[in-house]
Amino acid sequence: MSNDIVDNIISIAKRRGFFYQSAEIYKPIAGFWDYGPLGVLLKKKIEEEWRRCFIKDEGFFEIEGSNIMPEKVFIASGHVKGFSDPIVQCKKCNSFYRADKLIQEKKGVFVPERTSLEEFDRIIDKENIKCPSCSGELSKTRFFNMMFKLNVGPTEDSEIAYLRPETCQAIFVDFLQVFRAMRAKLPFGIAQIGRSFRNEISPRNALLRQREFTQAELEIFLNPKEKEFPKFEKMKDYKINVLLKGSEKVEALSLEELIENGIVEHELVAYYLGKLQQFLNTLGIPLNSIRFREQEEDEKPFYATYAFDCEIATALGWVEIVANHYRGSYDLSSHSKFSGKDLSIYDEKTKEKLIPHVWEISQGIDRTLFCVMLHAYRIDPQRGWDYFSFSPRIAPYTLGVFPLIARDGLSEKAREVFEMLRKEFDCFYDESGSIGKRYARADEIGVPFCITIDHKTLEDNTVTIRNRDTTEQIRVKISELCDMIRMMK
Ligand SMILES: [Zn+2]
Repeated sequence: MSNDIVDNIISIAKRRGFFYQSAEIYKPIAGFWDYGPLGVLLKKKIEEEWRRCFIKDEGFFEIEGSNIMPEKVFIASGHVKGFSDPIVQCKKCNSFYRADKLIQEKKGVFVPERTSLEEFDRIIDKENIKCPSCSGELSKTRFFNMMFKLNVGPTEDSEIAYLRPETCQAIFVDFLQVFRAMRAKLPFGIAQIGRSFRNEISPRNALLRQREFTQAELEIFLNPKEKEFPKFEKMKDYKINVLLKGSEKVEALSLEELIENGIVEHELVAYYLGKLQQFLNTLGIPLNSIRFREQEEDEKPFYATYAFDCEIATALGWVEIVANHYRGSYDLSSHSKFSGKDLSIYDEKTKEKLIPHVWEISQGIDRTLFCVMLHAYRIDPQRGWDYFSFSPRIAPYTLGVFPLIARDGLSEKAREVFEMLRKEFDCFYDESGSIGKRYARADEIGVPFCITIDHKTLEDNTVTIRNRDTTEQIRVKISELCDMIRMMK
């Protein structure tokens, strides 16, 4: 795969209505993207799969918090003080760059997130790094807070608030409400799918680094002393691809090995790492393109005891799409302290009062969608056009319905079949152009099955179903069509 393919996919995405830059009839601002009709269908289906896998299957709870939250929330969370990127500005052309990324790109050296400003300046000076666009001299490094700050209300001294930089703070702030309302027992999870906002210095690679994006986050609350987890038993032989810290080689380790080798402490954590790999696999990401990279000591956030970035191999290299953190009691303790409200709870099982620890699964939905598209893209010289091989569970449209020709009463019959199918499936009707052209258009957006109504249909009420990946066709009675598609999906 080359970057031509990435450009190709971005161009199809725009032409066919998956996604494109926001406010395009004006001068768009970098890092903001809109989803068109097909993108919305694909995104909603990925979110629904996530919901099924991480909320419904697990009996967890979902909330929907505000996008705007008071400043105090982010003082407590550490974002006001610490959610900053090191930036430098070109003294000649005024362009801004992230110091760590610039050093990494220019010199291929990894700079840990917690490097001091003086250290950045020293490396830039020593390596003689200049502005990439005009070779101008760079300013001293400073920290830039990536949160979007707002004033709520009409006057200048009105309350300061922020657009949330991650969805999970609402989960921590609402923790006690949910615990009480749902009469929850440890361990339990609270999830949220919603928008987050970050004033990124250099948004890039379409949906991979945006300033406004969708996160699906799950915070699982647990008693740290409880190392066992009942669901683990069934999954313990399942293997995931792990790149351990300090290692260069990806190993397939069973969940049991993760525990036995002391890589993770809690069976619950191992279980959800396994579950995450299974989830990505159902979206069509092959197992050999998924890895869990254990974060090095100097790159993980200060509150995390250990952390695994789940990464997907793409034409753009390994892309982090899910951050998995053991956050300890950091968040709830901090919100207890700053709000003055005791967020500890009583654990019925161990008969003790405690502030639970947290295992976090934080997934970027837009990134996931883009990686799903990169992996589903097929170049097929034999058929003469490219297509997306989306899994039928998430394909934007499940079905296309076509009359072979738009005469002889075939259109009317095809519309009848279409009306029946659209009640249950996402489908579209198309009668313009040759049947080959219509198959090509449907393949291009990854429609798994095309239903064709021909002259035989009028005689015996059967239609053909064409399989996108094999291009093979089977004949099915209209009365059995819905059952058949349900089965194939
Ligand atoms: Zn410059």
